[in-house]
Amino acid sequence: MSKANEPEFTVRLLERRRSRFTSDDTPTEAHTVHCPLSVAARDVRFCERCERFERELEDDGEAWIECRVPLEVAFPRGLCGELMSPEVTCLDCELDAERASAFLQMAGVTSAPVLDDNAVLVGVVSTSELARLRIETRGSDHRPLEVEDAMTTQVVTLTQRSTLGDAARLMADRGIDRVPIVTDDGHLVGVICAMDLVRWMASRIP
Ligand code: SF4
Repeated sequence: MSKANEPEFTVRLLERRRSRFTSDDTPTEAHTVHCPLSVAARDVRFCERCERFERELEDDGEAWIECRVPLEVAFPRGLCGELMSPEVTCLDCELDAERASAFLQMAGVTSAPVLDDNAVLVGVVSTSELARLRIETRGSDHRPLEVEDAMTTQVVTLTQRSTLGDAARLMADRGIDRVPIVTDDGHLVGVICAMDLVRWMASRIP
């Protein structure tokens, strides 16, 4: 809630799309922005009811919202939630493995986070893991293969309040180039990539 006479700054926030492939053939799509006030992804429908919301607009082929936030939170504080991309392709754990491969190909990615029925992150699966599973079970009377048969469940994560230094150290220690960002109760809200960190560092170099 804004306070009287509080200095404010109007920020323009890029809308991101988050697609989720489920067992029926219709991907669901959420439109979110990164809220600098709560340092969290917010559904645009939520923003439209926020007292700080100004307007939604199209510019340069992208959708944006504008809202007023206190001056001290208008600029990045070096947290993962500020830099992560909420635009994540993810898969349901019970999705048929063949269709999961096709969805990953359609989305142009080689791996994706896997969610359970409650949108909690339960693993990560790659196209190579799905292909290997198909080869290993070929000719057997194995039940229809699902994403959870191939996924890796040992997934390192960060939260939106983790610092970018935490993210850089984790990537360097584990030799990985992307880390899922989750809420305290494990819901996936985005992903942070090594390239995001490089861009952030570049923007701070005079
Ligand atoms: S409109 Fe409100 S909830 Fe949405 S980003 Fe702005 S301050 Fe956050």
